[in-house]
Amino acid sequence: MTTANYRRIVLKLSGEALSGEDGYGIEPSIIQSVARQVKDIAELGVEVAIVVGGGNIWRGKVGSEMGMDRANADYMGMLATVMNSLALQDSMENQGIPTRVQTSIEMRQVAEPYIRRKAIRHLEKKRVVIFAAGTGNPYFSTDTTAALRAAEVEADVILMAKNNVDGVYTSDPKVDKYATKYDQLSYMEILNEGLGVMDSTASSLCMDNNIPLLVFSISEEGNIKKAVVGENIGTIIRGNQ
Ligand code: UDP
Repeated sequence: MTTANYRRIVLKLSGEALSGEDGYGIEPSIIQSVARQVKDIAELGVEVAIVVGGGNIWRGKVGSEMGMDRANADYMGMLATVMNSLALQDSMENQGIPTRVQTSIEMRQVAEPYIRRKAIRHLEKKRVVIFAAGTGNPYFSTDTTAALRAAEVEADVILMAKNNVDGVYTSDPKVDKYATKYDQLSYMEILNEGLGVMDSTASSLCMDNNIPLLVFSISEEGNIKKAVVGENIGTIIRGNQ
């Protein structure tokens, strides 16, 4: 029987991971594929929390480049993550996976507020918990949210699903044909070499709290399960090696 390597995981999905080719909006076939993959790992008994981004709808930085107040633009980004979270919840419940959305910005008609102990209880009861609205604070990212929530719920690992690359490379493989993929790295290397895995706030939080991160591609259906059962895919990042 296939067994999982982890007891509890945080799956980080960027907004783009839910969109089609153009990177905008929500593509039903893709979100259904994600939901099926989550079902596969939930059936292994893994407790699954998900942090969803919002870049397929809105990014605060773009708004601020247009002259908007940065904090306002960031709040719009956080609201975008709520839309993605509800879409994902809908898709997962269609597959029969009990799911709760908790948001860091209160909107009680739409989702539960984020309450750490309640989130842990849901996970223990094998409900998938989707953390929406990022950290609830402007100037942060959903990568940092994944790091923060992983520390809070004591997850064993963050699985960072990418839709355009299958791990961390020495340089951008789309631009540099000599780029090679790392099998493993330390957070210090990520920070020192400026590798574009996640922002430095998120990397520091993972490093300080000793949370491993596996970067892998979600484009191939079945990869989330491969990541969970410990098949050799993607790039694993740990504390100092
Ligand atoms: N955001 C924020 N605080 C947070 C998380 C997200 O202000 O704690 C905003 C920020 O504007 C960001 C947007 O929400 O650009 C969408 O999140 P992110 O860019 O992390 O999404 P992803 O790139 O993963 O799709």
